[in-house]
Amino acid sequence: ITVNASSSEHGARIIEAVRAVEGVEVINVSDRTFLLHLGGKIEVVPKAPLKTRDDLSMAYTPGVARVCQAIHRSPEKVFTLTIKRNTVAVVTDGTAVLGLGDIGPAAALPVMEGKAMLFKEFGGVDAFPICLDTKDPDEIVRTVRAIAPVFGGINLEDISAPRCFQIEERLKEELDIPVFHDDQHGTAVVVLAALINALKIVDKRMDEIKVVVNGVGAAGVACTKILLSAGAKNIIGCDQYGAIYRGRSEHMNWIKDWYAQNTNPDNERGTIHDVIRGADVFLGLSVPGVIAIEDIKRMNARPIVFAMANPIPEIMPEEAAAYVAVMATGRSDYPNQINNVLCFPGIFRGALNCRASQINEEMKLAAARAIAEIITDEELNPEYIVPSVFDRRVAESVARATEEAAYRTGVARRERHTEETVSDELAS
Ligand code: NAP
Ligand code: MG
Repeated sequence: ITVNASSSEHGARIIEAVRAVEGVEVINVSDRTFLLHLGGKIEVVPKAPLKTRDDLSMAYTPGVARVCQAIHRSPEKVFTLTIKRNTVAVVTDGTAVLGLGDIGPAAALPVMEGKAMLFKEFGGVDAFPICLDTKDPDEIVRTVRAIAPVFGGINLEDISAPRCFQIEERLKEELDIPVFHDDQHGTAVVVLAALINALKIVDKRMDEIKVVVNGVGAAGVACTKILLSAGAKNIIGCDQYGAIYRGRSEHMNWIKDWYAQNTNPDNERGTIHDVIRGADVFLGLSVPGVIAIEDIKRMNARPIVFAMANPIPEIMPEEAAAYVAVMATGRSDYPNQINNVLCFPGIFRGALNCRASQINEEMKLAAARAIAEIITDEELNPEYIVPSVFDRRVAESVARATEEAAYRTGVARRERHTEETVSDELAS
């Protein structure tokens, strides 16, 4: 007989129960999740045949030499004649993996392989995991710079704050391809999309709302920045020591100094339980269970609560339900899942399509609007503010909006509406 367990704990209970039956011997137990991981989850597959001497002499030497020389003469041709045009590096140092923390580069690899699967499945992007055995920002920057020739973009992943901010900034300066820390900006884009739609439901405007952001790490800082770009004026961030305000001297670092200077217009002080008073929006990007129903009751009428700590939110939807107008979490088992997969495959697809040199603020805003617009006004309701992660229209729509914004802001390097042909390649 086959018994399928719903979780590893459930599985363990089943095994124990079966073992307890007299005369039954447990010979083998398989775990479908582990079976799926045997030998890894992705592979490299040739696109051209290698059956004859002729095939070989074109794909490899001597034929390939002419292609190398063409790129040597005209470096931009690397985009048309190599994998660079469609390949993204998923770079991690394994310091902030899922909710598991600093588990190191090897243990991070299954996550990065999974990310590569999502890139391909939803965006048609070939992504390759690069797990670095160093935590030194200088060495990470140097290494990514050194491998950049192969890639059309760099997706930084699961690198802990505040190191992630500097690593990304430096790479952006040094590289001419997009560098995008998904835990920051992917989250920020989807949060903005969800907020655009949630505000429609409660009939409030971005420039009028008070937003409290609990957690000013990778995700919280990026969400704050995109909300400021989108027109929000009153944002207050809290870390584990409470509100970030100008003049706070304890537990600060350079990014929190930036935060103090650019948020909290009334310079409010206190804990999250204090500053949440009168807020229209609570964005939780921190740790499980840090707010209670009393906090939500202190918020303004028709509060919006995005409790995104994974896997357990800042407050559970059941607990908040009676008092919130709109609720979202990071989880797939509740309505309104805020998940980065709504953003990164499409935004990189769009950037690669036009050979963007960067993913700038306009492109992120365009991606967020595209995600929000998937849901029509008729469909929009408090339990449906973001599309499903399996909605195939999302990546396509995000890609189109991102590409358009790249052209508009002058960071696209591919001429518009020109079909490159092999004869163009040969002509020059
Ligand atoms: P991070 O860089 O480690 O930042 C965590 C932040 O939470 C830090 O600022 C930390 O404060 C703060 N914090 C810790 N305990 C707190 C408390 N009791 N009260 C208030 N703030 C507290 O992590 P991250 O990558 O930004 O992710 C944060 C959380 O959001 C995680 O649970 C993650 O799973 C979740 N997340 C969800 C999504 C999604 O649903 N799509 C996306 C991204 C992240 P200090 O600065 O004082 O240490
Ligand atoms: Mg991540």
